[in-house]
Amino acid sequence: MIRINENFTKLKASYLFADIAKRVNAYVAAHPDQPVIRLGIGDVTEPLPPVCIAALHAATEEMANRATFKGYGPEQGYAFLREAVAQHDFKAHGAHVEPDEVFISDGSKCDVANIQEIFAADTQLAIPDPVYPVYVDTNVMAGRTGANNDGRYEGITYLDSTAANGYVPAPPAVATDLIYLCFPNNPTGAVATRAQLTAWVAYAKLHKAVILFDAAYESYIRTPGIPRSIYEIEGARDVAIEFRSFSKLAGFTGLRCAYTVVPKTLKARDAAGHEHAIHALWNRRHTTKFNGVSYPVQKAAAAVYTAEGQAQTRALTDFYLGNAKLIRAAVHQLGLSCIGGDDAPYIWVNTGRDSWEFFDLLLNKAQVVCTPGAGFGKCGEGHVRISAFNSRENVITALARIAAALK
Ligand SMILES: *Cc1c(COP(=O)(O)O)cnc(C)c1O
Repeated sequence: MIRINENFTKLKASYLFADIAKRVNAYVAAHPDQPVIRLGIGDVTEPLPPVCIAALHAATEEMANRATFKGYGPEQGYAFLREAVAQHDFKAHGAHVEPDEVFISDGSKCDVANIQEIFAADTQLAIPDPVYPVYVDTNVMAGRTGANNDGRYEGITYLDSTAANGYVPAPPAVATDLIYLCFPNNPTGAVATRAQLTAWVAYAKLHKAVILFDAAYESYIRTPGIPRSIYEIEGARDVAIEFRSFSKLAGFTGLRCAYTVVPKTLKARDAAGHEHAIHALWNRRHTTKFNGVSYPVQKAAAAVYTAEGQAQTRALTDFYLGNAKLIRAAVHQLGLSCIGGDDAPYIWVNTGRDSWEFFDLLLNKAQVVCTPGAGFGKCGEGHVRISAFNSRENVITALARIAAALK
């Protein structure tokens, strides 16, 4: 009989969101008259910006006519979008990225999941804790780790993100090959300074390693001087791949569009020591396994770069950051410390107690759902993530209930 890829059996089942749903459903069943407010979600709530809607309608009309109909597009994305990305997201910020270094895709989740397959099976990994689970699980599936013992896989260098280091880990003392960094961070909302990213680029240069920089929340950065791209750091073109998404920038979580930047100067070696351009490998992989994002969706993404689109997406992210500001103030009012919320839609609360205990407290006493930090890794224990993705009305009601319940 055919055999399975046994690496899948090493995956530690993530019960996080199932566990949350179970507890919330039980509460709702027992208290049908007490509506709960969900501040645990990592999905946007507000509709698409009007420029994107208009672009979708116009592109649909083009698809409806023989003269303007589009079939398969370039797998890497249409030039109009790749050029807009290179110009507005990089060159305008003093970072050098060429349009043909931009690979348009249907999501950063797939890109950060798929990128590992172009590297060797014995690649040494450095992965933060707490973390977006995709980085770890995709490497487990690929066989780059051992068993899971006590919540951690053998063979991964974990980068602890704790109150002690301001939730931004420094490069480890040991050599690694592939480093996952995410700033602004999910789940902590922490951002990395220019000096901190410079240290990571220097580490990667020293060890001839590659940094995978997940910048899904870049559009939430407001603090002056915080880099928006790893390519704002000198030398990063030789050591880093960057992932960006329209999901949190323009509410595309249900529409699907993202991109990955692979500079042509980025190299890795084969077993014989010969250098290869990673760009060529990713181009081969992308064009073999992916057939392009739909034309209307790419037109909607390009609309984000018009003057109107910039104003509308700014208003959208400002709205969520307004929620975040209210949440931060409420957390401080409770006498708890937190980070995030200034340059990210997440607030990471140091609860000073078991993260599930705090989750239950908020659910039972305030009918508010948060995300227990322990679900994101060992270092998440003692914390909860509160999301700013909700209506203003729900945020205000939730915070009033929390204040009353924990008084
Ligand atoms: C939401 C998110 C993404 C974006 O995923 P898409 O597949 O583009 O929707 C990427 N990385 C992190 C850490 C995220 O939270």
